Amino acid sequence: MKESKRWTPIRKGEIYCSPACGGDCTHAEFLKANRDAEALIKKCGKEVGGKWEKRVFENLGWHFEVSLVGGDLTVRQSGKTYSVSSHKYGSPAQVSTRLHSTSVKKVITTQLFSVKKEADRWNNYLVENTPPKLKLNSTKGKIFKR
Ligand SMILES: [Zn+2]
Repeated sequence: MKESKRWTPIRKGEIYCSPACGGDCTHAEFLKANRDAEALIKKCGKEVGGKWEKRVFENLGWHFEVSLVGGDLTVRQSGKTYSVSSHKYGSPAQVSTRLHSTSVKKVITTQLFSVKKEADRWNNYLVENTPPKLKLNSTKGKIFKR
């Protein structure tokens, strides 16, 4: 069986689960994950604005996350706890925030500050490691002599 087929859920009565998962996930849980994802999209739009999209996925149960369209913020929810991660651009912005908060805005703001702190750390690394006779052109990523 192809890997993509192995992760395609099959409906059998109340069960809605893929062969690769094998966790006997239910169709009711799938519908709930979709409803909860839609609710989180509304919450994110209301608290911080922007367009958000959902991803509902299966791994021993149905899970969901919502992401900022055209951005690099992914929000996951577990009860009243939100976690936010940024991973699209590789290591300098690879930061995750997990906070117990009913405010998505607070968690996203904390995440953005963490990414900023990480960006500053990398900027300091470059400044500290650039020899005096070299100058960094930050827009093109090339090193020119002064
Ligand atoms: Zn499953």
